[in-house]
Amino acid sequence: MDSVANFIGNAYVPATGGPSYQLVSPVDGAVTATVHEAGRAEVDAAVRAAKQALRGPWRTMTVAERSKLLFAVAAEITRRFDEFVAAEMADTGQPRHVMEKAFVPRGAANFEAFADLIRNTPTETFMLEHHGGKALNYGLRRPKGVIAVICPWNAPFLLMTWKVAPALACGNTVVVKPSEQTPRTATLLGEVMAAVGIPEGVYNVVNGFGPGSAGEFLTTNPDVDAITFTGETRTGTAIMQAAAVGVRDVSFELGGKNSAVVFADADFDQAVDGVFRSAFLNTGQVCLGTERVFVERPIYERFRDALAAKCRGVHYGRPEDHHTDYGPLISHEHRDKVLGYYRRAVEDGATVVVGGGVPDLPADLAGGAWVQPTIWTDVPAGSVVLHEEIFGPCCSLIPFDDEAAVIDQVNDTPYGLATTIWTTDLARAHRVAADIDVGIAWVNSWFLRDLRTAFGGSKQSGIGREGGVHSLEFYTETKNVCVQL
Ligand code: NAD
Repeated sequence: MDSVANFIGNAYVPATGGPSYQLVSPVDGAVTATVHEAGRAEVDAAVRAAKQALRGPWRTMTVAERSKLLFAVAAEITRRFDEFVAAEMADTGQPRHVMEKAFVPRGAANFEAFADLIRNTPTETFMLEHHGGKALNYGLRRPKGVIAVICPWNAPFLLMTWKVAPALACGNTVVVKPSEQTPRTATLLGEVMAAVGIPEGVYNVVNGFGPGSAGEFLTTNPDVDAITFTGETRTGTAIMQAAAVGVRDVSFELGGKNSAVVFADADFDQAVDGVFRSAFLNTGQVCLGTERVFVERPIYERFRDALAAKCRGVHYGRPEDHHTDYGPLISHEHRDKVLGYYRRAVEDGATVVVGGGVPDLPADLAGGAWVQPTIWTDVPAGSVVLHEEIFGPCCSLIPFDDEAAVIDQVNDTPYGLATTIWTTDLARAHRVAADIDVGIAWVNSWFLRDLRTAFGGSKQSGIGREGGVHSLEFYTETKNVCVQL
């Protein structure tokens, strides 16, 4: 794909000579594609198409027919698996095995899960008994309408389908605005939708940036009925302001500053492997990733050394190469930000255990946005490194002695997305999971997702919950019908 177009009404929009920009490979800095930016006219056309589709065959389709179509979307993604893997690798530079084992199959699974759920989730009924009679009340789920889906770059296909699948399952139509840095898979999904028979205008994609571009044009369009957004907390604030006009609903999955808590009684190897994954998978660019690791003092030094050894063993390389298990950051701009924190940690007096800079790589990769996986110890309590979301392959190790005190430290952040707890003490696991202020607490695991469960962030990490019936709550309005018997 060397040209990325907008997708409106089941067709790619031909380039009109309007603004475009170039995609740059994070792996080596080469220009890989031209993206045609949607101006206000294109965004309005996409919203019009989505609104129009709410009155067409999509509206009269039965739930069973809609569900069948979504299973067909999943099957078609699986049939074109290699294309999705290639598109996602080209955009993100992340290794093939991450795409093949997690990000692309989980995208297909999103459609299956919500196709299933919409057919099998009842609504409420109440029998009202009043003087002289009875009335039957029952709930009907009605779609909200046109949903704007605004996505980040870090797991583009997975995070986009996680919103699109329930939105469509509930009978809405969508206009997706992928990240300007990773538009390929959302665009490719348009072909899948058209191929399996999703009606025109149900799924639309507009490309471009945030402020003054497609993102803002979409959120300010009055015919958008609700906005679901994944991205930075700061961007969420701007989108919420736009959503206030017309009092539109929002669902937000935002930033985090997540901690792992490793108790001395943990299965040591399992904890090291788990924290290594949670801190460094996707080069640390996972909202649920760990940037602060609290380790109980008796195992602190051993844990530090084991984690550092794993960091030294990563294989840099091109994403297509089966040997590669560690990719670049998404862009040079993001690398500058991450390297800024690497410098700041040292200025603040941290000890660099491993990494701390840019790796020395062969000439063909030297133009990429590479950074070393990095571990710090002795980071002073007030350092921004411990408090701001870095979104890179790095973590601070902090020893602790006391359960109650470590919970206070973990909770000392305006964010509240996720945590991981490593212990073999069952009672402690439940106690600590309940006391940490987050939307998701993993015990002896990380990134294990059951799509039927609630997903979202507390505090500044989000608004609302999606997943299972929670997604149905956001993507529908429940109407109560009251029948006097
Ligand atoms: P970002 O907020 O910069 O951009 C996200 C999307 O919003 C992009 O498509 C962007 O073009 C668009 N956008 C930006 N400004 C806008 C505006 N004013 N109006 C409308 N749209 C606008 O986020 P990012 O850098 O792409 O992603 C990284 C962030 O996402 C991190 O903070 C990470 O924690 C967060 N994230 C959270 C979750 C979660 O589930 N909580 C998941 C993944 C990523």
